[in-house]
Amino acid sequence: MPDAILRLALPSPLRRLFDYLAPPGVAAASLQPGMRLRVPFARRDLVGVLVEVRQDSEVPADKLKPALELLDRTSPLPPALLRLCQWTAQYYQHSLGDTLSWALPVLLRQGEPAEARQERFWRAADGARADDPRLARAPRQRQALTTLAQHPHGVPQHLLPQLQINRDSLNLLLEKDLVSVEVRRARSPERHGSWLAQAELPLNPEQRAAFDAVDSAFGGFNAFLLAGVTGSGKTEVYLQLIRRTLEAGRQALVLIPEINLGPQTLERFSRRFNARIVLLHSAVNDRERLDAWLAARDGEADIVIGTRSALFTPLKHPGLIIVDEEHDGSYKQQEGLRYHARDLALVRARQENVPVLLGSATPSLESLHNAYAGRYALLRLTQRAGGAQPPRFLRLDVKSRPLDSGLSAPLQQAIAQTLAAGQQVLVFLNRRGFAPTLLCHDCGWIGQCSRCDARMTLHQRHGELRCHHCGHVERRPSRCPACGLVDLRPVGAGTERAEERLAILFPQIPVLRIDRDSTQRKDAMNQLFATIQRGEPCILVGTQMLAKGHHFPRVTLVAILDADGGLFSADFRASERMAQLIVQVAGRAGRAEEPGKVIIQTHLADHPLLVQLTEQGYFAFAEQALSERRAASLPPFSHLALLRAEAHRPGQAEAFLQDACQEAERLLDEAGLGGVELLGPVPAPMERRAGRHRAQLLLQGNARPTLHRLLGLWTPLLEQLPGGRAVRWSLDVDPIDLY
Ligand code: ADP
Ligand code: ZN
Ligand code: ZN
Repeated sequence: MPDAILRLALPSPLRRLFDYLAPPGVAAASLQPGMRLRVPFARRDLVGVLVEVRQDSEVPADKLKPALELLDRTSPLPPALLRLCQWTAQYYQHSLGDTLSWALPVLLRQGEPAEARQERFWRAADGARADDPRLARAPRQRQALTTLAQHPHGVPQHLLPQLQINRDSLNLLLEKDLVSVEVRRARSPERHGSWLAQAELPLNPEQRAAFDAVDSAFGGFNAFLLAGVTGSGKTEVYLQLIRRTLEAGRQALVLIPEINLGPQTLERFSRRFNARIVLLHSAVNDRERLDAWLAARDGEADIVIGTRSALFTPLKHPGLIIVDEEHDGSYKQQEGLRYHARDLALVRARQENVPVLLGSATPSLESLHNAYAGRYALLRLTQRAGGAQPPRFLRLDVKSRPLDSGLSAPLQQAIAQTLAAGQQVLVFLNRRGFAPTLLCHDCGWIGQCSRCDARMTLHQRHGELRCHHCGHVERRPSRCPACGLVDLRPVGAGTERAEERLAILFPQIPVLRIDRDSTQRKDAMNQLFATIQRGEPCILVGTQMLAKGHHFPRVTLVAILDADGGLFSADFRASERMAQLIVQVAGRAGRAEEPGKVIIQTHLADHPLLVQLTEQGYFAFAEQALSERRAASLPPFSHLALLRAEAHRPGQAEAFLQDACQEAERLLDEAGLGGVELLGPVPAPMERRAGRHRAQLLLQGNARPTLHRLLGLWTPLLEQLPGGRAVRWSLDVDPIDLY
């Protein structure tokens, strides 16, 4: 009988599988897909995942190498997860091995055992008593023993300090055989009685209708779009649906955007449920991630909350998938495997036959389109749950008004009035730093990044010019590098400048800045929020970090300093993003008794999209924007794939893309495929970035299947193109920005 051939997915960009022989002494019959093996690969060792065992290989028998080691006795990957990764790799035209690398916890990729951490557990020995005469003069040991006796299942090592037990006392107790220690896997905390730790709020009629719709769909695939204005009680609906999921003995997966919302969400969920909840976000370390992953896989976690990559967490008994703030851009990964976790949530729900609920106050145009087309059931919450009034919008035309650090005079007055009334103000500006440009008033020199086609942002406080595209940093010049004169002026305003100016205008009032620069220090964000929650007058200045999730009930005025970027941009999604930001920022305010007011500074006060948005709301805007997309055959009315390339020398990226384009034309011709347009190659909107020259080729298809047939034929050829060696290229299926 011929040797069995193991076909493995390896962490390599190449879109193919690799054949090996079984390691010495391992019977092929004992192998199952999903098991990991260590294999030799180009003078290195790699950890691969077994996809199938076959009898034949295209590799000549004498070239096949045996794998070095089998790492698992059973497959750590449930078949459902392997299937999801295979679908993902296929759809995004990515290598399966690399897809698995993105999907699996780091420790599994590195070949660590797929086992939860073992820990030392301390227990009072049977029959040990605190009044043991040997402890008469040892109060600490007595205390430690008494505490341990209260925990019959044992106390894990890491909790000892919290219980004020020190190791010395334990060692002395151990010598007397009064305690025992055992190394084992942490046992999940036991649940007591009801899943609810806290009473549920009675749902209002809209919430009830949404709840009932999803509730009656349990047990099968169904997609729902919960479009509810900020504060309408979407989270309450999620919580009650999760309770139903838990009661049915199933697990819930909740995806949240990538920001500091994790702890807040976790707290709210923990208050509500007696359940085992795991949180997976970027700050979780590798060990914790693996433990959480295993707990979810083995049915020992009831609720999994996490950012984008948590979509790939295996669940033993999946019951419900929720994607909160489904419009959020952080669900799309912008490097390596360019997947969209919201889109994959739908795929996964269908594969696992469970309902999926997408929620947002500002649904993406894609999801709205799917709802209008009947693919998702649309559930709407139109009222704020706590009875708070919706904010009022005012478009402030700043065409002929001078801006003082980004602030017009009428806006300054409105801020002053709000503060005088004892209320808080939120100033939103989606630009970090002091000023986006440093200009020489004598010769017109502008601070440009030496590695990008971009201006350097002035960060006054640090005396630096920083490139926000490549991270390049220079000292702020004291003289103009071109003419040597000293009249260098910041042009335009970022959050740092607005903050500085507001602090001068309102010297008695605290001004708090919230952006990536101000919140790098751990806990800085929490301190800021504590100040805000105290409720005294203050001004918050910040970027889109302000737009997400947090509630500022005492804010009654929201000022949006610049809405025009979203109306001018060449990116067709810019207006959608702008509208979402405006509505989300506005939704932070005026939650309680005081209604909020939103002032939008703009040079385009009559722009139809802005008028729709501010006078008739997000849905009216979205319908208008969708009809513009339809007229222009843009997504969701067509489907895109973007081939990006970059190279050290000018022309190399274009040459590669030119060849790629010819191949695509030939394939379309040969396969008789119509309805796919090739746009380009063209230089990228930012042609040079981090020292590389960039270009792109856009593919636009009327129908997804045709576009995907082309991609499936095309990408293997791209790997072979000779011009590909000098360039870095990537394919982005369903790109969300065209940069
Ligand atoms: P969203 O997720 O839509 O922003 P939340 O679920 O956070 O909204 O609800 C906003 C506020 O309204 C919260 O303070 C919440 O406790 C409250 N709330 C939600 N649903 C109800 C309800 N049915 N009755 C009373 N208050 C509610
Ligand atoms: Zn100059
Ligand atoms: Zn740069």
